[in-house]
Amino acid sequence: KSVKISCKNLWHLFGKGSAGFLDKHQHNPSEADLASAGLIAAVHDVSFDVYAGEILVIMGLSGSGKSTLVRCLTRLIEPSAGQVLFDGVDLLQASSRSLTDIRRRKMGMVFQNFGLLPHRTVLDNIAFPLEIQKVPKADRLTKAQELVATVGLEGREHNFPRELSGGQQQRVGIARSLIGECDVWFLDEPFSALDPLIRREMQDEFVSLQSRLNKTIVFVTHDFDEAVRLGDRVAIMKDGHLSQIGTAEELLMTPANDYVKKFVQHAPRAKLITTQKIMVPAKAGDISVATH
Ligand code: ADP
Repeated sequence: KSVKISCKNLWHLFGKGSAGFLDKHQHNPSEADLASAGLIAAVHDVSFDVYAGEILVIMGLSGSGKSTLVRCLTRLIEPSAGQVLFDGVDLLQASSRSLTDIRRRKMGMVFQNFGLLPHRTVLDNIAFPLEIQKVPKADRLTKAQELVATVGLEGREHNFPRELSGGQQQRVGIARSLIGECDVWFLDEPFSALDPLIRREMQDEFVSLQSRLNKTIVFVTHDFDEAVRLGDRVAIMKDGHLSQIGTAEELLMTPANDYVKKFVQHAPRAKLITTQKIMVPAKAGDISVATH
């Protein structure tokens, strides 16, 4: 199953005095209001949908608010204002019990440092979410063993994380989020620590895994090349604002502002893929625009 997520008018402010600030400014503070209060709007009135079954990539430079946005979507932090609907459930209104349940059963999260348990083997790390769900040991180990094969880690079942390469550790992290059969994965820069070759391999594997499993995926990266490789759509963040959301083609052909234009123009790989896609259809005009 894959699920839809919607966020509406989502804000997250960092800094002392953030409570009540938005109400005081009718949810429309100017940059000067924020600056004089010493607040940072890491997420600044952001609204968008993540469609069921798509890979949505959230992209932007370091500090643009990507991680904070994902933390609001997963309710790991409480947004200052707005709404997050996860499969129709308002996460900001949900009780802590139902939130915990949704996180355990429906959300898979993979972060840059993999979050593996150092004193547990590969198999036990993968099986861990089922342990929390109190699934009997024999069943969870059988399931974990299946996933070891899915992510290509056969023969490594009894190794500890420190004995694995970064790419292998990453696979353990991915298998662990798969085991709970969650509906949505959130991945925050999962491949950024990997060397380019392994990174490329992981991106390809990730795409094939996604097409087999048809999960809804929110994937954070600062790399437009990676965004285009993986994303059905890309959301571009700048200083807490959502600059634009769309397919790579839409961003390239109709950038919403100069920032988006600059971003996509400096992404030769993106240009290449987009140009190839556009070369196929009808009008000659499309081709000349794309090759500029
Ligand atoms: P990204 O993931 O795009 O690198 P972040 O969401 O981490 O961006 O950060 C967005 C903004 O919020 C940045 O200006 C950052 O300095 C600020 N920020 C992030 N976390 C905190 C925090 N815990 N306290 C104060 N400011 C923070």
